This record gives sequence, C-alpha cells and structure tokens, in this order.
Amino acid sequence: MHSSDPHEILRRVFGYDAFRGDQQAIVEQVTGGGDALVLMPTGGGKSLCYQVPALARPGTGVVVSPLIALMQDQVDALRALGVRAGFLNSTQDADERRLTEQEFLAGELDLLYLAPERLRVEATVRLLERGRIALFAIDEAHCVAQWGHDFRPDYLLLSELPKRWPDVPRIALTATATDATRTEIAQRLELTGAQAFVASFDRPNIQYRIVAKNEPRRQLLELLRSEHAGDAGIVYCLSRRSVEQTAEFLSAQGIRALPYHAGLDASVRRENQSRFLREDGLVMCATIAFGMGIDKPDVRFVAHLDLPKSVEGYYQETGRAGRDGEPSTAWLAYGLADVVQQRKMIDDGEGDATHKRRLAQHLDAMLALCETTECRRAQLLRYFGQKPAAERCGNCDTCLTPVSSWDGTVAAQKVLSTVWRLKKERNQEFGAGQVVDILLGRRTPKVDQHRHHELSVFGVGTELTDVAWRNVLRQLVARGLLTVGGNYSTLRFTDESPAAMRGEQKVMLRSEPERAARSSRSRGG
Ligand code: ADP
Ligand code: ZN
Repeated sequence: MHSSDPHEILRRVFGYDAFRGDQQAIVEQVTGGGDALVLMPTGGGKSLCYQVPALARPGTGVVVSPLIALMQDQVDALRALGVRAGFLNSTQDADERRLTEQEFLAGELDLLYLAPERLRVEATVRLLERGRIALFAIDEAHCVAQWGHDFRPDYLLLSELPKRWPDVPRIALTATATDATRTEIAQRLELTGAQAFVASFDRPNIQYRIVAKNEPRRQLLELLRSEHAGDAGIVYCLSRRSVEQTAEFLSAQGIRALPYHAGLDASVRRENQSRFLREDGLVMCATIAFGMGIDKPDVRFVAHLDLPKSVEGYYQETGRAGRDGEPSTAWLAYGLADVVQQRKMIDDGEGDATHKRRLAQHLDAMLALCETTECRRAQLLRYFGQKPAAERCGNCDTCLTPVSSWDGTVAAQKVLSTVWRLKKERNQEFGAGQVVDILLGRRTPKVDQHRHHELSVFGVGTELTDVAWRNVLRQLVARGLLTVGGNYSTLRFTDESPAAMRGEQKVMLRSEPERAARSSRSRGG
C-alpha cells in the first residue's frame, strides 16, 4: 500500500526533511529486525526512532510507556498525522478497550501504546500473541533499573518479551545515561546483544546555575523578574505544601503560576497540565510528579527550590528547559537544610543498608555538583561518562563568574572543635543554628540556658558572618567532614572529622558570590 522506505515515511508522514543525529542509524537497525538501546537526551528525538520503523515494518509497533496520562495526547497527535494509533491502559472503559483490541487484531493499528502493568494481565499477553507485532519499543527504559530514581516493578516483566517473541525486534529508549544504568537496563531487559546508540548529553543552550539558598522564594522572584519576565517555566519543590505556597506566592506577585502535585485531583492536574502546554508564559510549580514526557518546546527556565536527589534526576528535570534550542536557564537554590533533610530522608526511609548506601552515593554526587568550583557542564557530562568539549563551557555560573576558593582549614577547625566540645564536655549535640551562635559569641536565651558562653570556643568565630558560617557548615556536611543525624538533625562527627579538627587536612572552601551569576546575554524583560 504505502512505501516502507524510512526517508519516505519521515517526509510523507512526519513532514521532516532529514533524520537528526543517530536517528537514521537507529531506524535502519530496528527496521532491519535488530535490537537497539538508545540513550538520547530529552528533546533529542527518541519517538521517531520507533515510530518510523513501526510504520516501515508489517504489523503493529507496541510501545510500552509508564506515561499513562500522556497516551491520549500522543495518540491524538499521531492520528492527526494520519498514523493509526491506539492505547490500552487503566483510564479506559471496557468498550474503548475492546475497540482498540479489535483494531489491533484486525491489523488496523500502526502503533499501540501500552502501560507496563497491562503485561501482568494474561489476557493482554494472549491478545498480543494473536496479532502481528512489528516491534517492541520500551520507552523510559531506565524505569527497569532497580536502584535508579524511577524504578517501576512492572518493567521487570519486560524481560519476558524476548522469550515469547524471539523474532520481534526491541528498542529501549531513555534519557538517563550513566554507565551503571545503561548496563542495568541491558541486563534486565536482556538487551546485552543490542546495538547501543549513545548521543551527546550536552545541552549547550541551557545555562546551569546553582546558588546558595537564603530566601528561596525571594531569590526565585528576582530571577523571574530580572531575566524571565513573561516566560514559561517550571519550578520544582520537594513537598506538596511547598508547591502550593510557591504557586500562591508567585500569583500574589503578579506572576501567572499553577500548582501540580500528586495530591491534587486528577481533573485539576489534567487541567493545569494542559493549560501549561497550551497557554504562553505560565509558570508551573510542581513536584517531580510533573514533567516526564511533557513536550513543550519553549520552557525557558527550570528552577529547583530544593535539592534533587540525584544528578540523573537533576539532569532530566533541567532537560525540560529549552527543547527548542533557544537560550534557557537551569537554576537551583540549595542550602544546608537541604543536605540535612535529604540525609534524614535516606536514614528514615525504607530499604536495606545497600539501598541506603546507593541513595547516599546519588546524593553525594549531586552535592559534589553543587559545591564544585569547576565548570558545571563539564562535571555533568563526566558524570554521564562523556567527554566535555572544553574544560570551561562559558555558559554556566562557575564559568561566567569564576568561583574563588579560600583556605577554610581554620574555620573548619573552629566548627569541628565546637561540635567536639559540646559532645565531650557536655555530652550534647546541637544543630547548625546553635553552633553558629556559639561561634559568633551570641548570648541568646538558649546559649544562657545551656551555659554555652562558658565553652572555650564561645565567640571564636567573629571574623565571619552568620551566613558565611552556614556556608562553611553546608560545605563541611556536603563533603562528609561532618554529618547530621537524629530526630533533631544535630551535627555529629564522621570518621574524617578528627583529622580535619586537628588541622591535618587542608580544607579549601568555595567563596559564595554575593549574587548569582548573571548571563552576559540579555534576554527580553
Ligand atoms: P524525546 O522523546 O527524545 O524527548 P521527541 O521525540 O519528543 O524527543 O522529539 C523532540 C522534538 O524534536 C519534537 O518536537 C519532534 O517533533 C522534533 N524532532 C524529532 N526528530 C526530528 C527531525 N528529524 N527533524 C525535525 N524535528 C524533529
Ligand atoms: Zn561551564
């Protein structure tokens, strides 16, 4: 009926002149019946990598995706192009499901989107066995990685596919790209023999900036007013409450903002999401429940008011900015409280020791990115096992405003001695606030109550400000020279603390610039 030449399909159906990057090689591999593992950043064009082969090969391309909320939109968009697409997931009623099943069996579908949990249902497997399958595409394939940040148990079922359908090619796609995740995906999906396609993960149009957090909402407002007035963007917050408060705060300041989190009614979520996609210049305040699979090209900034749990998460979330290739900002405000909170969440959370160690490693890598004095982009790319084009990218805060470091050995000694004396002389532990008050020699009621003015370290730190001490504390904790624990998140020694307290280890610290780096270009507004 119609041609099975990939280029012809690309032009006729999708209206594009040429494949991008690895797309052509991937399409040829899969169309020819081979397996592929595709690692491509968000916005790289993963969809065409399975859509074109699905049209080029006889039968239906079955796409496994966890993004149930987007399936209707994806299918509508494909139908608008004349592609015969359908989906099966839990949002449908029995009639809709039956209709799709009939279309599939009659060979009337080019693409069938499927939620992974459908494969748990024996009837679905039998249905698939009765039809003709062109290929299996496994989208968001990192969801199979058990220790990754997005694990979905149902993805483990996908290792059954090659057993039941040994002759059907499979293509797994993800925007997450560490070597560890890639290896785990290949093993769990039995794709060790697949050809791997790894695109560059650099997003040169995104400017990375990480600032010390003091008044996060005010800092955010300043960013939006000075650089992103009228722009669409996403503001990520850790908690639902903070999402709502931030949305209210921005609205009160005259910025059109909407909330999005899993605690909102499904209809409200759907409405807010579709407004964000449809209207110009809306700011979405959201938990990380928002964003996966969202294809809005002109998101001009992604701001994080809380620390992401991993570099993978940070990269994916910031990657939602600037898909159109235009200059965009990835901005993160982070402080000591973030480190304390995340460490506590790991300690109090579920999972065995191995799991917690894994989470702690993810957090440490994120902290290292925050505390680096080197180019953020270079560090990010190295984390994903890729070689940066240059040591300095010229489009991140540390490149635009080089960060100087200072010898914080003595400051670290003062902090550590304070924590040590509280423990040794008083058998007490305190949080950052009290330790800073002691260093600054402040006679607060709490100081008087505990007679902390009688400690020999009282007032030994008047050379630095309150904010500067908090920056020191944050960096000590981020580097593991000090830790936080217990119900009250008190400061405690680590194995590395004694040597640093004795001054045996030189401690170089970041000097926090007074203001966040400004870009040299000027954007409207
Ligand atoms: P990903 O899934 O990797 O995030 P998408 O498949 O959603 O990326 O593609 C991102 C955008 O790039 C889409 O708007 C898509 O239409 C566009 N695109 C993809 N491939 C091409 C191409 N070869 N030529 C032009 N535009 C493309
Ligand atoms: Zn840089």
